Amino acid sequence: MTAQLIDGKAISENLLSVLRQRVAARVSAGKRPPCLAVVLVGGNPASHIYVNKKRQSCEAIGFRSLAYDLPAESSAQELLALIAKLNTDEEVDGILVQLPLPDHIESSLVIECIDPKKDVDGFHPYNLGRLAQRVPLLRPCTPKGIMTMLHTLHVDLHGLNAVVVGASNIVGRPMALELMLAGCTVTICHRFTRDLPDIVGRAEILVVAVGKPGFIKGEWVRDGAIVVDVGINRLENGKICGDVEFDAARQRAGWITPVPGGVGPMTVATLMENTLEALEARELG
Ligand code: NAP
Repeated sequence: MTAQLIDGKAISENLLSVLRQRVAARVSAGKRPPCLAVVLVGGNPASHIYVNKKRQSCEAIGFRSLAYDLPAESSAQELLALIAKLNTDEEVDGILVQLPLPDHIESSLVIECIDPKKDVDGFHPYNLGRLAQRVPLLRPCTPKGIMTMLHTLHVDLHGLNAVVVGASNIVGRPMALELMLAGCTVTICHRFTRDLPDIVGRAEILVVAVGKPGFIKGEWVRDGAIVVDVGINRLENGKICGDVEFDAARQRAGWITPVPGGVGPMTVATLMENTLEALEARELG
């Protein structure tokens, strides 16, 4: 078997084009476009690339984007003061603080200061709690984008065995909540998990977010599985690869996401979707 590719680039372009039309319809009805504030503190080269992609996406679909590039040595107080200002700015619909932050700033403190109604990353405990309670509002972008991709396959997800490898707050944990919400039976794996190849071998849906190139061996993958590779790893030769041994896994899986061109573009498009939803929800009051 050779797996079909799940083309995240094409799916994200469709989503962005729908969003562009919705923004155009708002503007012709005399309403303002959505506005996303993107905050970067210092920032490694990867963060600069991600932030630029988000700002470019805003422009491409007619959103306003506000750029706040703070020096790496900025204090937590300076960052919190900026967030407080953005929270009360009626013209700002979404606030995104690019992670990771410099070591001297506690990211959970910063996330909790963002108004949950403008938390377009979906990382605020209120928004994660809503997802855990099955009444989601703003949902973390990468897991939500993966659900959008899975829905394009027209596979009934109810009762499927889903395995999530990686349990971070921003990908693995909310991913598991999304899959449960969709009716899957979910197993979450982390660094203390035993018998990983066995667990992976039972997955009808496998989502991997670990950050280690080729960590999941192709031979572990169950025949016909849907494999979603979230990992983004830069190799010494400059190439980007995922956490799954792509060529070997492709021989067994039914569907698989490529890296690049899989989950990455979905994350950015979903951030745009969340920003428009945040604006519409605030308009409804
Ligand atoms: P992270 O915060 O470093 O989390 C990695 C997770 O992997 C942790 O939960 C860790 O377990 C788990 N892990 C580590 N070693 C393991 C092992 N031997 N067996 C099983 N689990 C193990 O990373 P992240 O932010 O979730 O990101 C993961 C990857 O996804 C990175 O490559 C990142 O660049 C990429 N990413 C991509 C997108 C996108 O849009 N495509 C978005 C976000 C992240 P513990 O919890 O026990 O420490």
